[in-house]
Amino acid sequence: MENIAENLLKTRARIVAAEQKYGRPAGSVSLLAVSKTHAADTIRIAVAAGQHHFGENYLQEALEKIGVLPQADLIWHFIGPVQTNKTRQLAENFHWVHCVDRFKVAKRLSESRPAHLAPLNICIQVNISGESTKSGVATEQVAELARQILPLPGLSLRGLMVIPAPQTDFELQRVAFRQTRLLMQELNATGMQLDTLSMGMSDDLETAIAEGATMVRIGTAIFGSRQT
Ligand SMILES: *Cc1c(COP(=O)(O)O)cnc(C)c1O
Repeated sequence: MENIAENLLKTRARIVAAEQKYGRPAGSVSLLAVSKTHAADTIRIAVAAGQHHFGENYLQEALEKIGVLPQADLIWHFIGPVQTNKTRQLAENFHWVHCVDRFKVAKRLSESRPAHLAPLNICIQVNISGESTKSGVATEQVAELARQILPLPGLSLRGLMVIPAPQTDFELQRVAFRQTRLLMQELNATGMQLDTLSMGMSDDLETAIAEGATMVRIGTAIFGSRQT
């Protein structure tokens, strides 16, 4: 049985240590606890330990948990691939969607965002250097997609998200994160005001923080390994 409260403390300590080591301002990296495959009771333990941001990959599973965890202070992030026919449920139930990779999806999310809710926060998923995962937008197409998304009234474009191919070497890991950061800087140089780099998981959060991550998505290091 995992000690979730202790794992959360350890993970937060890793984040703080990396902020210090790489000259990042204290508190500039937020922790998204990735709770996919873990039960609502498990999430409750994390909530009791002070965790508020949760990431889910599978819509049906996520909706069941959101339904039994109605606390207003929980912030739900969808971090799985977005299917066009699921956009309404995403827009109605989540605060963030991290994997937007085409305009059609963005437009539908915007149109289905209920008017009484704040705009849905989104990140564009980038496919840095044509990595093995086929999801994400090619680097050279990100600026165009961002320009199309910005005027959509139901969305707030916050930044970029990346899932690089796994690397064991720190310097190799670093390349994809650096390219993602530079890409966001280029977009901001054209007048955009993006503030979020969603990158870094249990095995590479330090590397991601070294290259500017503002939100790390951590599952295994908090909840233990997942049943497949
Ligand atoms: C599952 C998942 C994570 C968490 O990965 P861990 O290695 O368990 O920390 C992060 N991001 C995405 C997109 C995921 O699907």
